[in-house]
Amino acid sequence: MSIERVDTLVVGGGQAGIAMSEHLSKCGVPHLVLERHRIAERWRSERWDSLVANGPAWHDRFPGMEFSGIGPDAFAHKESVADYFVAYAEMIAAPIRCGVEVTSVRSNVGRPGFRVETSEGVIEATYLVAATGPFQHPVIPAVVPENAGLFQIHSAAYRNPGQLPEGAVLVIGAGSSGAQIADELLRAGKRVFLSVGPHDRPPRSYRERDFVWWLGVLGKWDAETPAQGTEHVTIAVSGAYGGQTVDFRHFAERGMTLVGRAEKFRDGVMFFAPDLADNIARGDANYLSVLDEADAFVARNGLDLPEEPDARNIGPDPHCVTDPILELNLAKAGITSIIWATGFAVDYSWLKVGRFDEKGRPKHRRGVSEVPGLYFLGLPWLSRRGSSFIWGVWHDAKFLADHISTQRGYLAYRPCAPGKTKGS
Ligand SMILES: Cc1cc2nc3c(=O)[nH]c(=O)nc-3n(C[C@H](O)[C@H](O)[C@H](O)COP(=O)(O)OP(=O)(O)OC[C@H]3O[C@@H](n4cnc5c(N)ncnc54)[C@H](O)[C@@H]3O)c2cc1C
Repeated sequence: MSIERVDTLVVGGGQAGIAMSEHLSKCGVPHLVLERHRIAERWRSERWDSLVANGPAWHDRFPGMEFSGIGPDAFAHKESVADYFVAYAEMIAAPIRCGVEVTSVRSNVGRPGFRVETSEGVIEATYLVAATGPFQHPVIPAVVPENAGLFQIHSAAYRNPGQLPEGAVLVIGAGSSGAQIADELLRAGKRVFLSVGPHDRPPRSYRERDFVWWLGVLGKWDAETPAQGTEHVTIAVSGAYGGQTVDFRHFAERGMTLVGRAEKFRDGVMFFAPDLADNIARGDANYLSVLDEADAFVARNGLDLPEEPDARNIGPDPHCVTDPILELNLAKAGITSIIWATGFAVDYSWLKVGRFDEKGRPKHRRGVSEVPGLYFLGLPWLSRRGSSFIWGVWHDAKFLADHISTQRGYLAYRPCAPGKTKGS
């Protein structure tokens, strides 16, 4: 069997793989990107129909190309995001081979590099970048048994309201996905219950600047990797309907019932933690802290941005928050479906090298693993808060390409023969 040899192999042809390809090319590193499906597949087939980017088009993109067909302040539809990456890959002539799955990676024995088994044969690579995504494997906590007589799906499988059976729906998780899906279902005339956990909810815009701008100038996207265990605070933002602040009080005013964290399910009854008011208050505190920091930034820099005092008007807590439901018989409440917007895990079962923690997350420093030649890209907090997002991954890819290039330089080095000086 013939074995193909490449210098650097990138696994995954999403935004991370494309960014990696761009920087490897700039560094003159020969490489190949393998993608098991299509470029940016997850934006096409693992997101709901109406999804738009959470950030405006001027921000949620790579530096080298703007979105075409939409204004810079608009929020690109998911298909446009996928199209953008296809066009970007073409522009940089990325060597991407689609429809090829990497099934296992092992270290070579007695020499550097990796033996990579794929659906189309074996490849040997000196360097390998795992760019298979921050959100690979939908996580549904084991709370409600599959045979409970409810239609249950993860947010990754949700497409549109028409997919759900008649009746009310319980959406569990109120990050960006849960909040947006619950809002869409409410607008479609569904009776909606939303389980709200701890979250951040920055204002969509303040003083004529989108929150992505504020988080940028305030240095929040560049916040460095936090301590283990404190990586993920759900952030509830939305670009839907032109971009609006996620405000759970408004959801309740429009008829949605908010509940606390879903803790357990027994005999048809869901039990919710008594934490709803705290979670809403925490979201408010985060919202107000962004306004405070923004005001201080404006004052410090003498910016001419119009004041917006009304942004500080937070309405009263709705009844469902002051007198929360702690137990709910789902059948009696007419609930026929549950959407679990409860996040994702990684799945590196194909990677037989490297060290992983108890959640299967790889050990690395800024994406550089302890195994020489093995790299990770696109993971949450890889180097900073922005690492798993479109604009952040591009910068991490640059760092990794530099690292690979430097390592190649070491390997290529040969000392001058004894007694000779360079050029003699
Ligand atoms: C609902 C949702 C909305 C989001 N909205 C935004 C947003 O608006 N703005 C933003 O900046 N970020 C957003 N993100 C975060 C992030 O930008 C996306 O998750 C993005 O898809 C991550 O890109 P990636 O290339 O790192 O990974 P992925 O898009 O997951 O790409 C990885 C690729 O690897 C391939 N692959 C996996 N395993 C293998 C294998 N063994 N062999 C070959 N190929 C393999 C997959 O098919 C996939 O195409 C969102 C995330 C979600 C879940």
